[in-house]
Amino acid sequence: MSSIRNLVIVLGDQLDDQLSALDDFDADRDVVWMAENETEATHVWCHKKRLVLFFSAMRHHRDALQQRGFTVDYHALSADKRHDSGGDFGDILSARVRVLKPERLVMTECGDYRVREMLEAAAQRHEIALQARPDRHFNCAVDEFEEWAAGRDSLVLEHFYRMLRKRHDVLMDDGEPAGGAWNFDKDNRESFGRDGPGTLPHVRQFCADELTREVIDMVDTRYADHPGSTAGFDMPVTHAEARTALDDFIANRLANFGPWQDALWTDMQFAYHSRLSAALNLHLIAPRDCVNAAVDAYRAGQAPINSVEGFVRQILGWREFVRGVYWREMPGYIQRNALRAELPVPASFWQGDTDMACVRDAMQNVLDNGYAHHIQRLMVLGLFALVAGVHPRAFHDWHMAMYLDAIDWVSLPNALGMSQFGDGGVLGTKPYCASGNYINKMSNYCKGCRFNYRKADGEDACPITTLYWDFLDRNLGAFEDNHRMVFQVKNLQKKRADHELMAAIRQQAKTLRQKISDGERI
Ligand SMILES: Cc1cc2nc3c(=O)[nH]c(=O)nc-3n(C[C@H](O)[C@H](O)[C@H](O)COP(=O)(O)OP(=O)(O)OC[C@H]3O[C@@H](n4cnc5c(N)ncnc54)[C@H](O)[C@@H]3O)c2cc1C
Ligand code: SF4
Repeated sequence: MSSIRNLVIVLGDQLDDQLSALDDFDADRDVVWMAENETEATHVWCHKKRLVLFFSAMRHHRDALQQRGFTVDYHALSADKRHDSGGDFGDILSARVRVLKPERLVMTECGDYRVREMLEAAAQRHEIALQARPDRHFNCAVDEFEEWAAGRDSLVLEHFYRMLRKRHDVLMDDGEPAGGAWNFDKDNRESFGRDGPGTLPHVRQFCADELTREVIDMVDTRYADHPGSTAGFDMPVTHAEARTALDDFIANRLANFGPWQDALWTDMQFAYHSRLSAALNLHLIAPRDCVNAAVDAYRAGQAPINSVEGFVRQILGWREFVRGVYWREMPGYIQRNALRAELPVPASFWQGDTDMACVRDAMQNVLDNGYAHHIQRLMVLGLFALVAGVHPRAFHDWHMAMYLDAIDWVSLPNALGMSQFGDGGVLGTKPYCASGNYINKMSNYCKGCRFNYRKADGEDACPITTLYWDFLDRNLGAFEDNHRMVFQVKNLQKKRADHELMAAIRQQAKTLRQKISDGERI
């Protein structure tokens, strides 16, 4: 006879305090199941801080659930691998199902196609029902996105975002967008100019408590060879800390978020960005709380419309949009490689050692914090990988390993789609490609770099500039008919008219690409 009714699966990125899987939880008959597992920690070679974040937040959540009266069956990893009892979710779950003999498994829709398949397979093996409930964390359900997307030739963020603004009555005044426009992007592309950003506000840090210190010890021993370091771990790991992080952003950085959203500067880690993505993606905080707090600040006159709309667009727009694209396009999406790119990620993406000042600075942030802000991701590291011809899946795998906020549903469309154009234009209609000129305009990096951003050939040529022209040259067939690439294609034609220069660029790009392929330093 079965002693347990529901075994309720709570994954590491489902730490909501109102999780749908727990809706009808009966403390007398149901048990929560949570598992730290080796496969999730190692199938990508995770940054140490990413491991600490997940395991610490999960253990805090376990304790909070227990305090609320839930029985939690928790599988913890220990420093010594010999104590392991199973590698992946499927194995560990199977072992517990055999012991606990629940009538059924219950979960909230998960954020990773591969994990979903693993859990479904485990349920099938045991001939037990697995019920997946909708995830209320998001503002747009997967089937709502499907409905919106059905019959459209292309998926345009702006249309989706406006639909959600209206549907959820966010930043609307009598049916019209607050501030008189839907979009303030033109006000949100400032660089810091010659003088730099000046003194930037501190980002709220959170001290590691005893539970987090235990996890840090475990990670330092068990995953000693993983990239990054646990030193200085300061992320929010509970709901209360995540709320404090949000309040800190609203009070100290939101007002300036808009104008300098795209700006880059040496040693500038977070600038006016929120650093809320990891807490959001583990569901330590709800997107609607972030949006409401920003809108309240606007209504109270504490932050201008361009900053508030810019922030709302990221959370209500982009975050929901990429999730919709992920579930609509999977499982085939992860295989896409529209430009047939084949290189591995550059060696500098693991250890940060390079002469390229822009890549070195962005990588310092990644190694120190498991973080880089959007433009460092898209227009420095992503740009370098794109123009070099890194395989989009390899770029996504690397991204999953190194960033604290990486979960498959959000990393894949951003990394493979938006950044590497691997999807051939599902997420964005053109590739985010540029020469070193763009980086020079938006940052001070080029001033301290041994390369010259203007030069495409020669000993001091900027690798990004060389590879940019070569990228256009190699992929011209894919871009010729793209009306958003007209300007770049025209410029390439002009470059091609100088046969000698173009031959030198091709040769230099070939050498650079070979070096990347061989894991050599650039
Ligand atoms: C190559 C690449 C990979 C990325 N991978 C991830 C990822 O794995 N996880 C992730 O959360 N974001 C990812 N992003 C989006 C974005 O860069 C990060 O969300 C952002 O940099 C996180 O920092 P922040 O919290 O300070 O964001 P802010 O600049 O303060 O923005 C506020 C919030 O908006 C949301 N947001 C902004 N842009 C996006 C976007 N394009 N997609 C989804 N949400 C967005 C995030 O939740 C973020 O916390 C990626 C972007 C690129 C270019
Ligand atoms: S010159 Fe090129 S490599 Fe150096 S910082 Fe500028 S863009 Fe980066």
